[in-house]
Amino acid sequence: MSTEVIETEDLDRHECRACGYIYEPLKGDDKSQIAKGTPFTALPKNWRCPVCGAPTSQFSNVGPLGQPSGFKENLKYGLGVNVLTPGQKNLLIFGALGVVFLLLISLYGLQ
Ligand SMILES: [Zn+2]
Repeated sequence: MSTEVIETEDLDRHECRACGYIYEPLKGDDKSQIAKGTPFTALPKNWRCPVCGAPTSQFSNVGPLGQPSGFKENLKYGLGVNVLTPGQKNLLIFGALGVVFLLLISLYGLQ
């Protein structure tokens, strides 16, 4: 089963919880000489928010550009079911029902 999920961690933007500054990997950070295209996870450990000086631990992953607002971490709760589309959920549910049905049929077939 293929999913539409593409790993774009490298392009994830991170928002400073202290001041609202958003680090965008595509833009980098001129003040700290961070080159364009540098993922947040590849920033130096001593990198600080260029606006308020908060450490990277104060940042939240807000996902890549163009995604609906909301923290990406929150979408991962519930064993990842929330990231499935309704269609995928139906497939999952009916697929499970189908397996149970086939199981029952085969059990009857043995008797
Ligand atoms: Zn900040």
